[in-house]
Amino acid sequence: MSRIVFATGNADKMVEIREILKDLGMEILSMKEAGVNPEIVEDGSTFEENALIKARAVHALLPDDIVMADDSGLEIDYLNKEPGIYSARYMGEDTSYDIKNGELLRRMEGVPDEKRTARFVCAIAAVFPDGEEKTTLGIIEGRVGYEIKGEHGFGYDPIFYLPEYGCTTAELPPEKKNEISHRGRGLRQMKKMIEER
Ligand code: IMP
Repeated sequence: MSRIVFATGNADKMVEIREILKDLGMEILSMKEAGVNPEIVEDGSTFEENALIKARAVHALLPDDIVMADDSGLEIDYLNKEPGIYSARYMGEDTSYDIKNGELLRRMEGVPDEKRTARFVCAIAAVFPDGEEKTTLGIIEGRVGYEIKGEHGFGYDPIFYLPEYGCTTAELPPEKKNEISHRGRGLRQMKKMIEER
């Protein structure tokens, strides 16, 4: 039976991935659990390309497994879709999200509600043992808030405001965020593709 190996080192993502994919009935491992950790240069120009680059790099080492990877980020329309594919690297990988979020709020100062539109995007890529490749894209639309708010989640969640919920994704209970998030949506689409293969 095929295993699914997910090309991430992020333990929080693995919890969410296992939960969403569990009824495929396949063993789901992180790349660390599968014993690989290749050096990967994410030099694609889209979320899908970067997810595929990661999945291909791990698939080269584990050709008998289904290898999946994700790439995600925040696109702010007013800032020409920044930080986009550079979300993790924006202002430097080691800069705290309090600082990154504060800087984005500063750049959005004085921008009215209707121009604060933004979205979280998540591409999921899969490379199958026969070499076939698939990608999906999950999106959640929202707005840049006016202050840093909420204790849940990570990254840009405290400034990502959902008008229909009246709060940021950092204020939502984690189960709710997983249910509606870009990553949840992309993963569920990929699960369907795997079931239909
Ligand atoms: P990567 O997909 O692991 O390369 O990183 C994407 C980056 O986008 C993260 O480090 C966060 O800065 C941001 N990001 C992606 N998804 C989320 C989310 O659900 N909440 C907050 N920030 C996110």
